[in-house]
Amino acid sequence: SLFGLPDQAPHERVLLAADEQTGLKAILAVHSTARGPAFGGCRFWSYDNELAALNDALRLSQGMSLKNALADLPFGGGKAVIIKPAGQFDRAALFAAFGRAVQSLDGAYITAEDVGTTTADMLGMQAHTQYVSGIPRAGAFGGDPSPKTAWGVFVSIEAGVRLHLQRASLDGVRVALQGLGAVGWHLAEFLHKAGAKLVVADVDAAKVARAQELFGAQAVSVHEILTADVDVLAPCALGAVLNLGSVPQIRAKLIAGAANNQLATAADGDALQARGILYLPDYLVNAGGIISVAREYRNEGEEQAVMAEVSRIAGRVEELLGRVKASGNTPARESDIWARSKLVKPA
Ligand code: NAD
Repeated sequence: SLFGLPDQAPHERVLLAADEQTGLKAILAVHSTARGPAFGGCRFWSYDNELAALNDALRLSQGMSLKNALADLPFGGGKAVIIKPAGQFDRAALFAAFGRAVQSLDGAYITAEDVGTTTADMLGMQAHTQYVSGIPRAGAFGGDPSPKTAWGVFVSIEAGVRLHLQRASLDGVRVALQGLGAVGWHLAEFLHKAGAKLVVADVDAAKVARAQELFGAQAVSVHEILTADVDVLAPCALGAVLNLGSVPQIRAKLIAGAANNQLATAADGDALQARGILYLPDYLVNAGGIISVAREYRNEGEEQAVMAEVSRIAGRVEELLGRVKASGNTPARESDIWARSKLVKPA
């Protein structure tokens, strides 16, 4: 059914925006405005077909509702996907057309960066919509949310290592990092500084070589990273990496990373739990970026305050584990229940 894919609550609104002149084909998905306007990034990506793009937009926007609720933000959940045109295109014109589509929703949806979009795209869109964040601002807080996302993942790993691996610090803890992109690279820096031993993989060999040089990281192939012999696995590249094929082979005892929708299905979360592997839900640990762009959007941005708010994710990890102990649910299922209970207007 178009009004609810399996496991998904129906969306409030979905806009299919097309613009012949620029080649824009975008899906703007507003999952829930129960807590406030829907806030979530814009993905710019090539898809096998349009249905795959729609599916991605809907999955991601539902995830944003849960993420924003657990992060106590006064925003609902939404996400946009722009299908990357096959041939030549004018990027600025394409994003201008997308900005006009965002504006047409009159503030029901606020956009920012996601995979494939940049601070420059957001900056350019400002002329076409006021409902955009993640913009570098001279002398003021704003811009790239990735370092804040990485910080939230880092404090979550610290909490998980303390509570699940019973180790007091990250010193000597082995962490496998899948993806050394915007978030993964910052995470590698934080982990290295804390004394962790890094095992890394990326399709981009130059990033891997830099991580070897700067962090003394061990490089493995992209096929080996998920099953590396480590204490912690941090997926920071793609979704659905925790699946029927990978879960039985994972050797890490803790999984916490930035990638959205890491579990291919809810059953994969159950299988991880059965193997004694603690999976910290992606939308709980990767909320640092949305916290950052939300603060920027509300003009409440100030570096120290944003970092302090992102650091509170560690407390939520601890609270989730307490809830898991009490309910017997897996962390993934328990965080869904917790987040859904918060899909109401904040007091
Ligand atoms: P990015 O595109 O900058 O980085 C992704 C990295 O993964 C790239 O270096 C890419 O080469 C690498 N990669 C791609 N395929 C790979 C594979 N098969 N194996 C290993 N590496 C591979 O993206 P990002 O902004 O760092 O985001 C990473 C993930 O985190 C995404 O899933 C994104 O949705 C999620 N996320 C990002 C933010 C943010 O603030 N940027 C916030 C929340 C969630």
